[in-house]
Amino acid sequence: MNTSHLAENYRAVVDRIRAAERHANREVGSVNLVAVGKLHPAKSIRTLAECGQRIFAENFVQEAISKQQVLSDLNIEWHFIGTIQSNKTKDIAKHFSWVHSVDRYKIARRLNDQRSDDLPPLNICIQTNLQGETTKSGVSGEELLPLLDDIASLPRVRARGLMIIPEPVNVADEQREVFARLREWLGHAVERGHPLDTLSMGMTADMEVAIEQGATHVRIGTALFGPRPDKKRA
Ligand SMILES: *Cc1c(COP(=O)(O)O)cnc(C)c1O
Repeated sequence: MNTSHLAENYRAVVDRIRAAERHANREVGSVNLVAVGKLHPAKSIRTLAECGQRIFAENFVQEAISKQQVLSDLNIEWHFIGTIQSNKTKDIAKHFSWVHSVDRYKIARRLNDQRSDDLPPLNICIQTNLQGETTKSGVSGEELLPLLDDIASLPRVRARGLMIIPEPVNVADEQREVFARLREWLGHAVERGHPLDTLSMGMTADMEVAIEQGATHVRIGTALFGPRPDKKRA
């Protein structure tokens, strides 16, 4: 995609977020745009960074590290949002500021153990699966609070909030219901003493509803970069 098209998309997405914040009577600027660059080239990320975007997310560790090398002159905050295999935690702990997709204690512990003392604690979100989908990773509501209790004793990771990738539905009421449930679970966690402040929810198709329901981070790929190329050709 060419530079001016990307810049236009960026403006349009920022405008959608600001409009949704106003519509929900939320403070303008309270929602963070996380630009999801998976399978898109580093030069597209550079273009958005030059437009003023600072937070970028990636799903695949090797792809992310190669982009980070090419873009090391830019002041980017890198977030990891992909499925985490145990043998990748070392690279994730080294190369990212945030991880949105932690879904078990073993992964949190490995990230904690492998996070260097020279870096600030790694910010993590717990990926939840409140719809009981067997094909998706994520913890259920019942598993969430004990997991947060265990993670609280790990000094090199800091639990910041909850993340969800809902089952795709086109009906706003159904989107709303899942996001509202995630917000309720955040409330339960806070009541139990976990100082969480992050709701990572909302993608291209449902960002407005997510913002209405309290999203602090929306993860947007397609609306910024266009359709993703096939993984094998990327
Ligand atoms: C790819 C991806 C996104 C972005 O999705 P779009 O629909 O392209 O905006 C958001 N979150 C996660 C976890 C993803 O893997």
